[in-house]
Amino acid sequence: MIGELWCWFFQFLCLNLQVDLRDKPALENVFAETKFDAVIHFAGLKAVGESMQKPLLYFNNNLIGTITLLEVMAAHGCKQLVFSSSATVYGWPKEVPCTEEFPLSAANPYGRTKLFIEEICRDIYSSDSEWKIILLRYFNPVGAHPSGYIGEDPRGIPNNLMPYVQQVAVGRRPHLTVFGTDYPTKDGTGVRDYIHVVDLADGHIAALRKLSEANIGCEVYNLGTGKGTSVLEMVAAFEKASGKKIPLVMADRRPGDAETVYAATEKAERELSWKANYGVDEMCRDQWKWASKNPYGYGSPDGTN
Ligand code: UDP
Repeated sequence: MIGELWCWFFQFLCLNLQVDLRDKPALENVFAETKFDAVIHFAGLKAVGESMQKPLLYFNNNLIGTITLLEVMAAHGCKQLVFSSSATVYGWPKEVPCTEEFPLSAANPYGRTKLFIEEICRDIYSSDSEWKIILLRYFNPVGAHPSGYIGEDPRGIPNNLMPYVQQVAVGRRPHLTVFGTDYPTKDGTGVRDYIHVVDLADGHIAALRKLSEANIGCEVYNLGTGKGTSVLEMVAAFEKASGKKIPLVMADRRPGDAETVYAATEKAERELSWKANYGVDEMCRDQWKWASKNPYGYGSPDGTN
């Protein structure tokens, strides 16, 4: 199971350490050896379908990992955190764009872990105002590093749209199944707010800068572009960027999917001085660069590495 876990922090990478966040003694050692000013906590399992099959795995990994991390941080006087939350906490929004004040809900165990962690963070701050916490609600991160050397490489069949499209483009899968063509949207397919991973990364730097201000408390920010793009629009943009045809099979809606979700971006612009710079053409360009250089991601066609 450890192999499945994504349990490291950004800073640990610099130290070349890999630690399961639930392993408190190991985490204690890391904090005893190095003084951290802040932690960016990205670690967590993230597949919605898997979370419905294995809820305890998700609660154990995501919640216990986070609670252990927060305990160890507090014990070592490190009380500044940036946490990867998700637009999934808006559930099925009644209207768009989603502002940070919208009511919160969760549609599956994965989403519940994000929601619970947000609530835990708010409670921690209420109990101890020395904490400074920024919760970043990611919309739909896509694309890859513009170098073409760093990109997403999901295990097994991709759940998300763009990794799937990418695998069709390189010939690993015969077609994309479009989930739902009868939504009340511009072309009947689901609409999401896709954000370039480089913009998303910049959002974290902006959040770290914000942590240096006094009395920020526990604050939440959307990281999105504020623009909604349909499944068919994303496919067309990827076809244009790659020159590849993506065969489509139209299918029923995927259970649990919302029709339209996109972000209100004003709060992040105003308070973090951060704004997404890239549009879907750049997202697809960079994702295709990564895919064409690395059609099997970090592995090989026969799966031996
Ligand atoms: N989608 C699709 N085929 C796929 C994967 C996703 O049509 O193989 C659609 C999905 O129904 C949604 C959009 O693409 O409208 C984005 O889905 P994704 O899973 O990437 O993100 P999420 O739904 O979690 O926002």
